Amino acid sequence: MGASLPAAASAPDQAKTQTPPPQPLWGSKTASPSYSQLLRDLRAGKVSELELSPLRREVQVSYRDGKRAQVSVFSNDQQLLQTAEQAKVPLSVRDDRQDGAVASLVANGLLVLLLLLGLGLLLRRSAQVANRAMGFGRSQPRLQEERATPVHFEDVAGIAEAKEELQEVVTFLKSPERYTAVGAKIPKGVLLVGPPGTGKTLLARAIAGEAGVPFFSMAASEFVELFVGVGASRVRDLFRKAKAKAPCIIFIDEIDAVGRQRGAGIGGGNDEREQTLNQLLTEMDGFEDNGGVILLAATNRPDVLDAALMRPGRFDRRITVDLPDRRGREEILAVHARSRPLAGTVNLSDWAARTPGFSGADLANLLNEAAILTARRQQQQIDDAALTDALERITMGLTAAPLQDSAKKRLIAYHEIGHALVTTLMPAADQLDKVTLLPRAGGVGGFARTLPDEETLDSGLITRAFLKARLVVALAGRAAELVVFGPSEVTQGAAGDLDLVARICREMVTRYGFSSLGPVALEADGGEVFLGRDWLRQDPHYSKQTGNRIDAQVRQLAQNALDQAVSLLRPRRALLDLLVERLIVEETIEGDAFRALVQQVEAQHQPFPVTSPSA
Ligand code: ADP
Ligand code: MG
Ligand code: ZN
Repeated sequence: MGASLPAAASAPDQAKTQTPPPQPLWGSKTASPSYSQLLRDLRAGKVSELELSPLRREVQVSYRDGKRAQVSVFSNDQQLLQTAEQAKVPLSVRDDRQDGAVASLVANGLLVLLLLLGLGLLLRRSAQVANRAMGFGRSQPRLQEERATPVHFEDVAGIAEAKEELQEVVTFLKSPERYTAVGAKIPKGVLLVGPPGTGKTLLARAIAGEAGVPFFSMAASEFVELFVGVGASRVRDLFRKAKAKAPCIIFIDEIDAVGRQRGAGIGGGNDEREQTLNQLLTEMDGFEDNGGVILLAATNRPDVLDAALMRPGRFDRRITVDLPDRRGREEILAVHARSRPLAGTVNLSDWAARTPGFSGADLANLLNEAAILTARRQQQQIDDAALTDALERITMGLTAAPLQDSAKKRLIAYHEIGHALVTTLMPAADQLDKVTLLPRAGGVGGFARTLPDEETLDSGLITRAFLKARLVVALAGRAAELVVFGPSEVTQGAAGDLDLVARICREMVTRYGFSSLGPVALEADGGEVFLGRDWLRQDPHYSKQTGNRIDAQVRQLAQNALDQAVSLLRPRRALLDLLVERLIVEETIEGDAFRALVQQVEAQHQPFPVTSPSA
């Protein structure tokens, strides 16, 4: 160890600075004199014996009074030797090469030990990292049971239909015997579809709160990782965990993050996402019926979802969560007002009327902003002034305040009522589900939605009459605009409808043989129309003349449909106006209410239904 000791500083220096000389690692316990003190002691004859250890560069001093000390010296210290000789002090030299050997051995040993220790630590660390990498596949689904504040169905307002359908899921989870006893199959997958902020996530949480079963919740984006295959193994892991806890619910939020159409896009898709989706599909097929695991998913982009997800046996139940209508908004406001002190003068129904197009999240935000303003003004209760300012703040952030412009609103109303009325008047058409002025997810304006006919859906067979009726319904929006505003005031709002009409007409003529061109398939099944695939479509196998005739037929079909729609609507101008007024006030009319209204008015004139779709 001697080597590690610093060489003693020059004697006078040490004396001046009074710093204690470096202590040897193993020495006597007595305080060591300084080098110069040692020389003085030697000359004064106080020292009886000296033992020099050259390798350790120190000298063991034995005093006459019995004390012993160690003093650091230079390795080849002439002065000490001379002084000792002059003072006639016996001086022996110790061969401590063995000491040194031991010391260096110990030192080396320690070094090796240190290295080993460091290496061990490093290995442990990298093992941990590796472990984590291997464990990537393990999902960390949040078990919703542990939530401190469970959400219940009464916290979700304004989306009664969706709530009702989900109630059934809860009933199944609570008492599955009721269903299994009568051989009822329980949906495996329920897909919640709707614009952002309408309460899809909230609904899912409410189910967890109501059902009282384990609830595994994950955002789909959590599946997708940097490494290919990780998402797939997460899906596997999630389902494994869930099956062990059945009956239970798995909730995958924003499923479009993994459920996008595969094989779309040019130059290959996202391998990782495709693998994840494939695994999800495999797992969904894997669990047996009535296994007690229900998969719940939410998205606001149903249009981009892979068709395979929608097949029976997967997400076989689709629940639409629309923007709330006026009454719905009032209910939602009431839910969020429960925890906030509202002034007695505030009329929630007025506020519902002032917030068309607002989602549940927007309404919650409105009340929250108002509460913040109230606190800032040091008031105790949220009043109309605070709400007014809050509304201003919120709508400033919105790109277009929906449905504020009443002329545009009226136009949209006539268009949609046109669709809805013709649907109701045509027996061959689908049943009207609802007509609304509230925009669909990602769209502008309202929509009229039909419920697909169960029989058609099951058999997959479509009749000629049904397709013709669909054409008439699709063109009824344009027809209503024509009837009410005249040919020069029609809008481009029907562009989507015309697109649909063109597609249906073309398929009728070229694939189904529903036209005077006869029972010939002129075009092969084009498959799913999608970017990249469309490019590969081959040229048609018919002559130019036939092509012209196809075009003429297509145009004929569309024109006939438009004429029929106009002829249905023109004699019912009064009914149209009445329905539009109602729609503008209520924003949404449900199918049943709509049919009742129509029937009531029609009964005064002629028996209902009026027209049958005769070819
Ligand atoms: P989504 O998942 O459909 O985008 P969320 O469920 O996340 O919407 O809704 C966000 C918030 O908005 C909810 O936490 C809730 O406070 C409020 N909210 C949305 N819809 C409703 C509703 N129908 N009833 C009550 N509150 C709602
Ligand atoms: Mg959500
Ligand atoms: Zn339309």
